[in-house]
Amino acid sequence: MPIINRIAAFRDDMTAWRRDIHAHPELAYEERRTADLVAARLESFGIEVHRGLAETGVVGTLRGRGAGTGAIGLRADMDALPMAEANSFDHASRHPGKMHACGHDGHTAMLLGAARYLAETRAFDGTVHFIFQPAEEGSAGALRMIEEGLFERFPCDRVYGLHNWPELPAGVIAVHPGPVMAAADKFTITVEGHGAHAAMPHRGVDPVLVGAHIITAVQSLVSRGTDPMDRAVVSVTWVEAGTTFNVIPAEARLNGTIRTLRPETRARIHEQLTRLAVAVADGFGAVATVDIQPGYPPTVNSRTEAEEAAAIAARVVGDANVIWNPDPTMGAEDFGYMLRERPGCYIWLGHGGDGPGCRLHNPRYDFNDEILSIGASYWATLVETVLPRRD
Ligand SMILES: [Zn+2]
Ligand SMILES: [Zn+2]
Repeated sequence: MPIINRIAAFRDDMTAWRRDIHAHPELAYEERRTADLVAARLESFGIEVHRGLAETGVVGTLRGRGAGTGAIGLRADMDALPMAEANSFDHASRHPGKMHACGHDGHTAMLLGAARYLAETRAFDGTVHFIFQPAEEGSAGALRMIEEGLFERFPCDRVYGLHNWPELPAGVIAVHPGPVMAAADKFTITVEGHGAHAAMPHRGVDPVLVGAHIITAVQSLVSRGTDPMDRAVVSVTWVEAGTTFNVIPAEARLNGTIRTLRPETRARIHEQLTRLAVAVADGFGAVATVDIQPGYPPTVNSRTEAEEAAAIAARVVGDANVIWNPDPTMGAEDFGYMLRERPGCYIWLGHGGDGPGCRLHNPRYDFNDEILSIGASYWATLVETVLPRRD
């Protein structure tokens, strides 16, 4: 496996940074210690550091040799999860109720490793922005960095991301030429009927019955409205109505989630869910209002960048260890916001091992330090390939 030798040589440093971050997990927009560590390391490599974007975000800017004007962004997430760690090794969480159970400690350490190598060698022509973002876990740190001017202050032609993937063996890289992760949106349908005595239903308009018809009707959005080769989920998960046995309530609320992989499918389901709920309610003499709260957009790679990333991955881990276009997942990732702004590619880096302790968001999860050199070599090879030296 052609791991870059120089990167393999500071594997111990990457491991130490990773374990230090793991021991001091910080939640969304509170990643101050982590950001200090990232900024100090980048400065020690001689990289220009910018802080304060999205509170705790850090961007390191490095120019290669030559006068190339191309620029790319490499992104790592820094935040931990609000959950208690069940591990007892030395680098287990020292912050009760907080834990790096998604491997963002490893993502940060790998990108630092690549930054160090690239600062030493600068064997590329153009500009690399190392984007360390806060708040990936549900609080949309990527969106906030964009809204605060990420791509105006640090222009990038293309953006790249990765996530460790415990379902894949260590040293395997999966690349999708399109959707990788789903959009995750919430909805609330409020049905206003007319309250009445339960023994005299004809005096009212029963929002519970109307809600039941809406729940049934929205099942058609996926089964009849979505191309069978596409993927989507509409789940009504939380129904609220009534207070007792003998009263027909005046109102019912249906809450749920919508998961989609394509922006056009997402827009269609939002529109049809609203239309269907309003029309069904109207047919019964009730009134439905639909509130859709958009979450992360789908994470969709651009084909050209995905093909290039797969070729780069093959140079690092070998052809046999690159999986092209496996099934995406219906989980969500806020790197989708960056890929909505710029073409690019988000890969899955095999994490290895099995058993519950290896799975993301499990209280026994720990990032596999064996893949730090692989991830850092992928980043470095990517930079040297997409921003090649011309001499
Ligand atoms: Zn996560
Ligand atoms: Zn994650």
